Amino acid sequence: MTAPDRRNHRFIALFAALVLVLAALGPGAAAAPAEPEPPPPTAGTFSDVPADSQFGPEIEWLAGRGVTTGWLEPDGTRTFRPLEPIARNAMAAFLHRLAGQPPVTLPEASPFADVSPTTPFYPEIMWAHQEGITTGWTEANGTRTFRPWNPIARDAMAAFLFRYSGEPEVVTEGPLPFGDVRPGDAFHREIAWLATRGVTTGWPTASGCREYRPLSPIARDAMAAFLHRLVNGGVEMPPSECGVPTPTPVDCAETRCVALTFDDGPGVHSERLLDLLKQEEVPATFFVVGQRVPTRAASVARMVAEGHQVGNHSYTHPEFPKLTGEAQRAEIERTDTVIVAAGAPKPTVFRPPFGAWDAATRRVAAMPLILWNVDTLDWKHRDPAQTLAITLRDTRPGSIVLMHETHATTIEAVPEVIDALRARGYTFVTIADLLPNARAGSVYYSRTSVAPASEVNVDRLLTGDLQPSTGVPGP
Ligand SMILES: [Zn+2]
Repeated sequence: MTAPDRRNHRFIALFAALVLVLAALGPGAAAAPAEPEPPPPTAGTFSDVPADSQFGPEIEWLAGRGVTTGWLEPDGTRTFRPLEPIARNAMAAFLHRLAGQPPVTLPEASPFADVSPTTPFYPEIMWAHQEGITTGWTEANGTRTFRPWNPIARDAMAAFLFRYSGEPEVVTEGPLPFGDVRPGDAFHREIAWLATRGVTTGWPTASGCREYRPLSPIARDAMAAFLHRLVNGGVEMPPSECGVPTPTPVDCAETRCVALTFDDGPGVHSERLLDLLKQEEVPATFFVVGQRVPTRAASVARMVAEGHQVGNHSYTHPEFPKLTGEAQRAEIERTDTVIVAAGAPKPTVFRPPFGAWDAATRRVAAMPLILWNVDTLDWKHRDPAQTLAITLRDTRPGSIVLMHETHATTIEAVPEVIDALRARGYTFVTIADLLPNARAGSVYYSRTSVAPASEVNVDRLLTGDLQPSTGVPGP
C-alpha cells in the first residue's frame, strides 16, 4: 500500500466516524451542525413519517411539544428516523424536555466516570441522575458509569419512565400479559407498571401470548408512543393467553407456604445443595455474597436455571450500620453487577449481613429487605438434628427460614427439613412467590410480619440475630 493510499483510508475512516457521531447526536443536539435550532415543528414535520404510519400521531405530538426536533437533511426536509435506537444520553434529554426543561444545577464533578461536561447532553444526564431517574452502574473497579452511548434497552426504558413518574405503587391483577417477563426478572415491577398503565402492549406471539422483548433496544417511534401514552393516557391491552406459566404462581394467602433461604454462598457445598433441591423439586432463595460470585459463577447460573431466586447479601459481608450510606450502596451495587455478570437476573431482594440495617440501608437498597422469622442457628450448633427441630418448632405458614449453605451440617439437614415440612402440608416457595408485592425499603420477617418503608423509628440493630463475623468469606 502506498502512502497516499493510507492517507486516503485514514480520511475515509475519519469521515465515517464523523458521520456516526453526527447521527448519534441527532435528537435535538443544538451543538450538532446537522441539526441547528429549528423553528417549532408543525404537523407533518418529518419526511420519513407518513401520515398513515403506526406511530405518526404520537411522533407529531412529540415534535409539537419540542421534545424532538429530528434531523435537517441536505434536501431541506426533516427526518425523525423512527426505527433507529436511542442512546442513553439522548433519552435523558428527551425526558428533560418532556419535564419542561427544568433548570439544572451542575455538580462540581460528574458522578459518572464515563460522563464529562463535554459529553453531549451533560446537563440533562446530571438532571436525570439528580432526579433518581438513572443510577448507572458500579463497575468492578468501583467507579460508576452511565454508558451514555449505549442504546437504551426496553427494560431500562421501563425503569426510566417509572422513576420519572415518581415510582408509583404498582397494582397488578393476575400475571403479566408478557410471556418473556416473569416475577424475579430485572425490572419486572417497572414493566408491570407500564403494562397496567397501558403504556406498552408489546407484540403478539404465534401462540397467542404477548412478549415485551425487555433486552431489545427501544426504537424512536416506540419511544414516542410510550411518552405519548404516559402523558395522555394509555391504550387497552389486547387479549393475551400465555398458557400455563412456569412455574404456576402459588397464592400464599391460600396455601401453607414456607421460604427456605440459604445465605453466604456460593461455596463448596452449593452444587450438592442444588442436587438435593433438584431431586426434591424444592425452590429456594440464595442470598449470595458478591465477592464469592466471580469464582463460582456457574453455581449462581445453575441456581437461576433450576428455578431458585438469587438475592443480594452484600459484597464483603460487613455490618451495614457501621458504613456510610454511600459505602452501603457500593456494597449492594457491586454485588448486583457480579450477579448479573454470572448470568442471573438483577436481584430484587436484599438481605443485610447479620440482619443488621439502618435508615440508610432502606434508602440505598432500593429493594425490599428480607429478614427471617425462623432462625435455625445452624452456624452456631452445627447439628442437623437441631436445625430440623428448630425449623419444625418455629415455622408457620408464610415463614422465612434462615440457613447457611456454608456448613456441611446444614446441607445434611436439608432432606429431613424438606420431608418434615412437606408432611405438615407446606409448599416451598421463593421469596418472590412468598412476597409478590414486596416494596423497596420495607423490611420483611415473614409473609405477614412487615416493617413498612413509611414506618418511622425503625432504625435498629437486630442484635439477637447476630452471627459471628467469622462468616466473612475469603477472596
Ligand atoms: Zn450472611
